[in-house]
Amino acid sequence: MTKNFEQAKIDTKSVWAGEKDYLVHGATQVPVIPSVAFGYDDMDEWYDVAIGKKKGHIYGRNTNPTVQAFEDKLKILEGAEAVTSFSTGMAAISNTLYTFLVPGDRIVSIKDTYGGTNKIFTEFLPRMGVEVELCETGSHEAIAEAVQKGCKILYLETPTNPTVKITDIEKMAKVGKDLGALVIVDNTFATPINQNPLQLGVDLVIHSATKFLGGHADALGGVVCGKDPELIEKIYHYREINGATMDPWAAYLILRGMKTLHLRIERQASNAMKLANYLQTEEMVEAVFYPGLETHPNHDIAKKQMRGFGGMLSFAVKGGVDTVRELLPKLQFAHRAANLGAVETTVGPARTTSHVECTPEERAAMGIPEGLIRVSCGIEDGEDIISDFKQAFASLRTAVRS
Ligand SMILES: *Cc1c(COP(=O)(O)O)cnc(C)c1O
Repeated sequence: MTKNFEQAKIDTKSVWAGEKDYLVHGATQVPVIPSVAFGYDDMDEWYDVAIGKKKGHIYGRNTNPTVQAFEDKLKILEGAEAVTSFSTGMAAISNTLYTFLVPGDRIVSIKDTYGGTNKIFTEFLPRMGVEVELCETGSHEAIAEAVQKGCKILYLETPTNPTVKITDIEKMAKVGKDLGALVIVDNTFATPINQNPLQLGVDLVIHSATKFLGGHADALGGVVCGKDPELIEKIYHYREINGATMDPWAAYLILRGMKTLHLRIERQASNAMKLANYLQTEEMVEAVFYPGLETHPNHDIAKKQMRGFGGMLSFAVKGGVDTVRELLPKLQFAHRAANLGAVETTVGPARTTSHVECTPEERAAMGIPEGLIRVSCGIEDGEDIISDFKQAFASLRTAVRS
């Protein structure tokens, strides 16, 4: 029976979409197919598959059925026409940029992109003779001005890592498209549950599947989704030759994780909202960053373009790094690790996680205080998370007093 997902809600899509073509022997779950090569008895059929005339698989660096099931699910969740996947989120980002940029090109982006992305902008692209202009994150005027000077790519990320700044996707997509730029959005923090940039006019949407899509911190992956199959075909071609292919075992784990994506995102967002509200009342906290807070400078834009505000928040503590060093080890229900989007709450200072590649001066220039703590809310009970932070702050205050 073919299932029609056009009308289904996103929760139903998370569970069912993209899997039916890959179920064999009556299995109800997509199998892991770790085969490096796929054999043919019929030489003509082999040839037709090899030249893309007929559907099928030839060699694991190019395509694989388990990996394709993952791509198909994401295609439906993002409302894309075509999707290609990668070994990691950074592979998705770098392969996409290197597919389109050649010496002499110009790219416009924002200062607060993910640390690895920022390194591509500041270290690798200039070395290739590509001009990079990084604008103040959240300043729509600055971005529009930079785009108007001409650029091949406008690259955005919203919400950003780690201070969850918001850019108006629809507005900036229009600015970029009007001037003929390719508009790309890193949608890792929002996930397709909360935000679909393709529906807001952008050309390409990128995810680190390692994070919320997989959701269990046990597999690396990346993906690019687009409305125009020709764009995706070009990126796929770059990837099949350069080799940053997603592993079938990773694809299986991420697919399995994605069946509960909607449930996890709902709980993570409600926990993040509760924790943000509590942190605002905590005397040792200087500032709380969460798009769901009315005090967030772009709360209105977030409300307009997101269905939920996500599980990511950050806050700055009084006393900087010294406080961070004392506070984080006191938490009971949190991994102190450089990851996000998992079912367990995960905390880390920006200086050792998202922006470890940057110098303190670079972080200061991006508005990232050294006392900034990033929290990826897990799916635990919200009250337990708050109690945990409360006891950690309380024991810190006791230590300070004695
Ligand atoms: C983690 C992350 C990436 C990179 O993904 P990897 O899978 O670690 O390579 C890119 N963008 C954002 C926003 C991220 O959080």
